[in-house]
Amino acid sequence: MNCCVKCGHPTTEKIPLGDSKVRQVCTHCGNIHYENPKVICGALVTWQDKVLLCRRAIEPRYGLWTLPAGYMELFETMEQGAARETWEEAEAKIEIESLYCMYNIPRIGQIYVLFKANLVDGQFGAGPETIESRLFAEDEIPWEELAFPSVQHTLRHYFEDRKQQQFPMHLETIGSRIDETG
Ligand code: ZN
Repeated sequence: MNCCVKCGHPTTEKIPLGDSKVRQVCTHCGNIHYENPKVICGALVTWQDKVLLCRRAIEPRYGLWTLPAGYMELFETMEQGAARETWEEAEAKIEIESLYCMYNIPRIGQIYVLFKANLVDGQFGAGPETIESRLFAEDEIPWEELAFPSVQHTLRHYFEDRKQQQFPMHLETIGSRIDETG
């Protein structure tokens, strides 16, 4: 049973007046519990010809490599979120260059926003959620040990775009139901 976040009474599933979707609605105060996609901000951080990856010290995908990224917080911008996550996970200071990749992941209600960024001083470390961070050249990327499809897509775009030295924004949908059912 679900409870109302406002008053603690049970909620029930129904379509509110004027709405078209089933929501959890409080049986006592009528509060409607909307669930909306979450935004994940992160950065593709480069230093000289290398990219910064973090090995996850948390589930899911413990031990696999990822780009520094995480849930956007209230009252921050996406750029601030990306910089904050990079600091928290990789103890690295970044200078954001441009918006680089946006991924819809409708199956799990997520939106990824990844910025292209430079490492400011070449310094990085490992925050509590990270086993280790490392700079990888293209031929060192652990393609088989990447944590998420978004990481793989972003790295592929980067090494492809780097050949032309042009980095347009990439907007894609990952893992849609259509993809999964073939
Ligand atoms: Zn309530």
